[in-house]
Amino acid sequence: MHRRTKIVATLGPATDDVGVLTDMVRAGLDVARLNASHGTVEDRRRRLALVREAANRANKCVGVLLDLAGPKIRIEGFRAGKVLLEEGRPFVLDTALDPKAGTVEGVGVAYKDLPKDVRAGDALLLADGQIVLDVERVEDTRIHTHVRIGGELSDRKGLNRQGGGISAPALSDRDKEDIRFAAEENIDYIAVSFARDAADIEQARTLARRAGRDARIVAKVERHEAIANLPSLVEASDVVMVARGDLGVEMGYAELAGLQKTIIRQSRLKNRVVITATQMMESMIQNPIPTRAEVSDVANAVMDGTDAVMLSAESATGRYPVRAVEAMARVIEGAEKYELSLGFQQHRTEGLFSDSEEAIAMAVMYAANHMKVRAIVALTESGSTPLWMSRIRSDIPIYAFTRHESTRRRVTLFRGVYPVIFDVTDAKSTGQLYDTLFTRLLELKLVERKDLVILTKGEQSGVQGGTNSLQILEVA
Ligand code: PGA
Ligand code: MN
Repeated sequence: MHRRTKIVATLGPATDDVGVLTDMVRAGLDVARLNASHGTVEDRRRRLALVREAANRANKCVGVLLDLAGPKIRIEGFRAGKVLLEEGRPFVLDTALDPKAGTVEGVGVAYKDLPKDVRAGDALLLADGQIVLDVERVEDTRIHTHVRIGGELSDRKGLNRQGGGISAPALSDRDKEDIRFAAEENIDYIAVSFARDAADIEQARTLARRAGRDARIVAKVERHEAIANLPSLVEASDVVMVARGDLGVEMGYAELAGLQKTIIRQSRLKNRVVITATQMMESMIQNPIPTRAEVSDVANAVMDGTDAVMLSAESATGRYPVRAVEAMARVIEGAEKYELSLGFQQHRTEGLFSDSEEAIAMAVMYAANHMKVRAIVALTESGSTPLWMSRIRSDIPIYAFTRHESTRRRVTLFRGVYPVIFDVTDAKSTGQLYDTLFTRLLELKLVERKDLVILTKGEQSGVQGGTNSLQILEVA
């Protein structure tokens, strides 16, 4: 049985051993996430080399996603590294305070415009909402607050305003440097943190292209403005991430389950890929097995139709990075057994297709889901045809046969799509093409003789955007 939903795992200190990382790849890691919020470009370069090595050792294609730090607003540091904030006490956020001079009375903030963006009555949430401050008044560089919910607060924790509205631009100078790094290193996906609208995505896309690489762009939906602009944001991006950490803070966590379902549905309808992220296996940072609630959360994301589920601290800094991947893989397979029988939406059965290749992809899925077809084979240059196919729910595997390594790495994120190395330009005739194709399928044990497969291809081999035929073939 094939696992269809993909696993993204964040790299960090806990995965800095090539043995551990290779075990994670073997356990089911499909896409590795480099988080630019921590460490330097050199750290990311070193981790990237480790992933490539682990993928080689495991003989598996692994995609790479670079997650930009974005304009996350953070407090500066404390003299003692941390303080204990007590409920009801005053606390000042001061953009003019020395970055290391924080005390129980107040702390610095590097974002100089913060006093302009907040007003009396606002609630500010620190450390993913664990600490809540009520704003009393704003005086020049100082925001005077009272602690509504207290607790331990340490250096460089994140800061959000409930309801959004903090107006830092989405791409900082550091992010631009990271985009250049991603282009140099042929990274497959670039994620824009705190994207507000389509313009933020377009800017990242333009910068990546200018740096020489057509990386796919991920819109992280994690702020109030992103929800307000959701249709155009989804349209502008290739992949959408339900970034539940910050989103839960800005929108209130009670909205999260509904937002997740809405974002996944809208993304799939527009042929976009979706990642569901944050705290999916949170207790596994410490424990070797997940809680029942976490099992249910991962399974529900699968049933909602996500392409991939993501591990953050569970893999980056947790005690059990390999077990976390194993547990996710197991839960996904468990959920996928039931998913199709639950009878979900008929994707776009009433829709109109603007593109003839998309129409062919839809026809393939209709035929495949109504016949005993063993496999779907798409001869593809860019991966678009398998992407369209994978928007339809099905348990028939879609093999993306391609000569391009970048396309093989790209499709690792698509639900139910698996990359296979295949150079279509090698075949001198149609007969020879079928022969080599069947040989490849048989040697990889993906089919047996007499199985039916559906093949899509273009008239001219090796031309992007040319898929114009659907064939039902018996493996000879
Ligand atoms: P982060 O993004 O882990 O980079 O904050 C994901 C989220 O906010 O959920
Ligand atoms: Mn976030």
